[in-house]
Amino acid sequence: MPKTNTKDSAEFVKPATPPLLPADSEDSQLTLLLKAYLRPEDIFQIWAAYRYSATAHEGQMRKSGEPYIMHPVSVACILAELHMDTPTIIAGLLHDVVEDTGTTQHEIAQIFGKQVANLVDGVSKLDKIEFQSATEAQAENFRKMLLAMSQDVRVILVKLADRLHNMSTLEIMAAEKQRRIARETLEIYAPIANRLGLNTIYQSLEDLSFKFLYPMRFRVISKAVKAARGNRKEVISKILDDIKQRLKTEHIDAEVSGREKHLYSIYKKMIGKTVTFSQIHDIYGFRVVVKDFSTCYVALGVLHGLYKPIPGKFKDYIAIPKANGYQSLHTTLFGPFGTPIEVQIRSKEMHNVADAGVAAHWLYKASDAHLTALQQQTHKWLQRLLDIQSESTDSLEFLEHFKVDLFPDEVYVFTPKGRILALPKGASAVDFAYAVHTDIGNRCVAVKVNHELAPLRTELHNGDHVEIITAIHAKPNPAWLNYVISGKARAHIRHYLKSMQSSESAELGERMLNQALRALHANPADIEEERWTKLLRDYNVTSKEEILTDIGLGQRLNVLVAHQLLALREDHDKSTNKALGIITIRGSEGMAVNFSKCCRPIPGDPILGFINKDKGLVIHTHDCPAIRKFRVDPEKWLDVEWEPDSKSLFKVNLKLAAANQPGMLAKIAAGIAAAGSNIDNVSMEESDNSAYTNMQFTVEVENRAHLAALMRHLRKIPDVVRINRAKGASIERRRKGR
Ligand code: MN
Repeated sequence: MPKTNTKDSAEFVKPATPPLLPADSEDSQLTLLLKAYLRPEDIFQIWAAYRYSATAHEGQMRKSGEPYIMHPVSVACILAELHMDTPTIIAGLLHDVVEDTGTTQHEIAQIFGKQVANLVDGVSKLDKIEFQSATEAQAENFRKMLLAMSQDVRVILVKLADRLHNMSTLEIMAAEKQRRIARETLEIYAPIANRLGLNTIYQSLEDLSFKFLYPMRFRVISKAVKAARGNRKEVISKILDDIKQRLKTEHIDAEVSGREKHLYSIYKKMIGKTVTFSQIHDIYGFRVVVKDFSTCYVALGVLHGLYKPIPGKFKDYIAIPKANGYQSLHTTLFGPFGTPIEVQIRSKEMHNVADAGVAAHWLYKASDAHLTALQQQTHKWLQRLLDIQSESTDSLEFLEHFKVDLFPDEVYVFTPKGRILALPKGASAVDFAYAVHTDIGNRCVAVKVNHELAPLRTELHNGDHVEIITAIHAKPNPAWLNYVISGKARAHIRHYLKSMQSSESAELGERMLNQALRALHANPADIEEERWTKLLRDYNVTSKEEILTDIGLGQRLNVLVAHQLLALREDHDKSTNKALGIITIRGSEGMAVNFSKCCRPIPGDPILGFINKDKGLVIHTHDCPAIRKFRVDPEKWLDVEWEPDSKSLFKVNLKLAAANQPGMLAKIAAGIAAAGSNIDNVSMEESDNSAYTNMQFTVEVENRAHLAALMRHLRKIPDVVRINRAKGASIERRRKGR
């Protein structure tokens, strides 16, 4: 791997590089790297993979005229430097055979096992997608797509090694292609390497991209760095010696090295701060690596004793690690000739992590106590990187498979123009069509997924290339409502249906109702007229057509009407059917709506509806503890929404604690009235602590904003110590208990 960091300022002598080929010889570069951490039997396996790959690529040349096999072997070397496990190294050797030669994934699985085959397949898939658009948001989506498609972290590591080697041999390509690949590397792959904490790879990718993207600027800056290096050579070696000497005197075992900043970071600093090269002092830094965490702080003290620290420059990334897991102490000192010196102090373990990031995970293969901490860190990283909200991925399980569902709620797909759209997971082609444009959604008739015709209901997957076929006179189909999942698609389909001709709608409504009835194992022909009569009365409408039209227009849900028709079979208690919610809940039109007393939803709360045979539709808040067990059964509940401007009043429970003083209740009651709310019920609780009384109010509010205003109002009353909204059945139970 090309290194931009040099170990020691004084010596720039490169050690002789061992031969790359044949890679299955004892003294090859790859073998020497592998011997450092793998067992002989693993190395034999890797040799076999090399021979297999060499045969497969036989006769194939790189653009430079070198035998193709040099590329996979170089990729394997990069991975071996990161101490990656055997399957990953083998995947590195085989990563191009499926694409470039006649080999199949099946064959690889048979010879090298399923794990290797999956890794190779993963890399091949990534190779097929190409980044085109250059906006920042698109770049972010593309990075997420790559990560989501990788599933196994090792796939992305092989891909990064592949990219790094391609970048270091980019010279041979045409200028146009160089720029395209360099830009893609800078915008997509370098940030991924950075987020995975793969510092060495990250810096190399950036510098190489810089070189091909801005050849002039690259040359100027590298020349300037070289000159500065020459000028400061003596200063640097003096500082290096001073630091080494002082640490030795204090009996601190440390590896001290000088380090040049990578060129692209210098360039970014110049651009960002609009300064010239001569104004950038910190192109050179020092690194002190000690044995453990506590020695870091001791070494820091020693260095602050050697040279005075510059105030305000100290950063403790040990106590507060960076998002990619990086840990170190950073300080800047006044050097002997007035030059500021940047020093990083870290432990050996932190150093490995700082260098190899996620890959450091493999460095400690089956070793010691560090393992658990490191595993946790690796896992945390991925979580942060992937913004996973749920904590379902258990650390151990992760370790076993190195697999995570990276973005559990989203899928990323391509438009024909190469734009990337993020859609909710489970989205269909129709959702995609509406996401592109309302007109495309309204006129879609078919879809091509990855260039093959597919039904509109087809669920989309990461990386799919989706092309919608439209027809001028096509119209939205109500059946789409059965499988679209995005709010946008749903809203547009409903909107369209509303504006449809009513005769058409009635016909459609009847079909939809019959469908729903059959789904409930009822024969539509068996519904007696009597039941329809009752239903018309309940809904307060004059004809069956009206209800059917409403269904066809998407104003009533077929499922709900079907449930109600069937419920009328039994003795129907009309009192439960008060049409309280007709104007307040969308998606429940025409249905008896009841608000659950356990959580008392008010407008603004996220809500769900449960179909109850006796009570109609019962509305709960999303977080209501009473419904937790039903939520797993999507047949039972409906997504419902509040109608935006209902003027009804809703009951809600408040818990309040206040100092036990005369007139307290009156003050609170006055406060509630002043906030424009009514009290429906009050109960008080004897408290053990006689200084305070717990009170429960049921009050009426319009919505959440109103409730918030009311609570703010009450908090202002002196001696009200606590107030919160109560969800749960406490008030009900207490009242019944009396
Ligand atoms: Mn390759």
